[in-house]
Amino acid sequence: MTKIDADDAPRASEMETHQYDGAVGGWGSLKGLSAVVLREKPGPVELGEELLRQNKHGGFMCVSCAWGKPERPHAAEFCENGAKATAWDLT
Ligand SMILES: [Zn+2]
Repeated sequence: MTKIDADDAPRASEMETHQYDGAVGGWGSLKGLSAVVLREKPGPVELGEELLRQNKHGGFMCVSCAWGKPERPHAAEFCENGAKATAWDLT
């Protein structure tokens, strides 16, 4: 087992960041989800019903992240990957 010395860890000012051109939400995420739905073809009514229960009280938690269950949730209370996972689970 290799022990990592904290003094050898890179400092934030020494780390490089790279441009990410993928979607991180909004229409780009909806486009990504649409591609999965068109390919996997889950039942559209069943998918809608499951997404309305995702991250809601009495529903189920996202399997892709630690999304919370807000006191007053929105209808679309899920992340892109969580919605994709739900679509895959229904096929
Ligand atoms: Zn999620």
